[in-house]
Amino acid sequence: MSDPILVVQDLHKAYGDIQAVGGISFQIARGEIFGLLGPNGAGKTTTVSILTGLLEPDRGQISVDGISFQKMPRAVKARIGLVPQDLAIYPALSALDNLLFFGRLYGLQGKRLRERVETVLEIVHLTPRAKDPVHTFSGGMKRRLNIAVGLLHEPELLFLDEPTVGVDPQSRNAIFESVEALNRAGLTILYTTHYMEEAQRLCHRVAIMDQGQIIALDTPAALIRQWGSGLIVAGLPEEAAEGLIRHLEHWPAVKSVRRRDGRLYLDTLHTQEALMALLDTTNRLGLPLRSLEILEANLEAVFLHLTGKRLRD
Ligand code: ATP
Repeated sequence: MSDPILVVQDLHKAYGDIQAVGGISFQIARGEIFGLLGPNGAGKTTTVSILTGLLEPDRGQISVDGISFQKMPRAVKARIGLVPQDLAIYPALSALDNLLFFGRLYGLQGKRLRERVETVLEIVHLTPRAKDPVHTFSGGMKRRLNIAVGLLHEPELLFLDEPTVGVDPQSRNAIFESVEALNRAGLTILYTTHYMEEAQRLCHRVAIMDQGQIIALDTPAALIRQWGSGLIVAGLPEEAAEGLIRHLEHWPAVKSVRRRDGRLYLDTLHTQEALMALLDTTNRLGLPLRSLEILEANLEAVFLHLTGKRLRD
């Protein structure tokens, strides 16, 4: 990568016996929206906490803008912003007072503080509600204020940890739009989510995380091309599966067939045709089909391919 803003090498973190992050490496290019996609417990928050200096890694190197986090933490922290998963705002204070308070914590003051507060309120479309106490805000508005706090000191790289959890669809869209507008204005973003639709819509590249590891990393389109073609998952008794595989492999609509946990995974070129082939063959051979699932070509299918699990199990 020619101009990485973030370089992460061999990051490890364990909590007792739990290896939350088990040796991950990746780079983010300047100007990217980079997704960390994985189910609950995959290690996303732990990764973000380490990359923003809230947590010490057991091992690994991090640099931002070519500056080592370990050697110059203050210089790195000045370049990064964090929007944590849990809201870090005071409900009794107005949006404006929250921002003034956090701005001062970041070392801003006077005219510069007032300008930054005004700017970030506009970015997240909260200017008309600036003077209202935060406890009167909807979940989505609180999330947007949380984002505004992370932007106060004008970071180059913003970490957004599951910013849409618990918000209604309309607010979710408002958050997407803010993220896209920020990125267009030049901000690099690391965005964690367990919603594959979000990663697919927003992210230029996605690292898929599971059990503390990055198991795939590429653009959503390339990941889907490689792993996520239409997928049919069929539950059959063990003895029936063997005979069926031999038949299905000859069908042009079926790219490949695999067995895992008592189910058949059919990677398809034409999902409809492959489905017809499957139903026709099981019918002809008198095989009992216990379950049937059809997945579109998307990141959910990629995750299922790679792990045998759904993102939201
Ligand atoms: P979520 O979306 O639920 O936040 P995540 O992908 O962010 O999931 P982490 O929160 O990083 O995952 O958790 C990774 C693993 O580490 C999980 O098994 C979790 O239970 C464990 N873990 C996280 N924080 C702690 C902690 N403070 N003490 C012990 N175990 C922890």
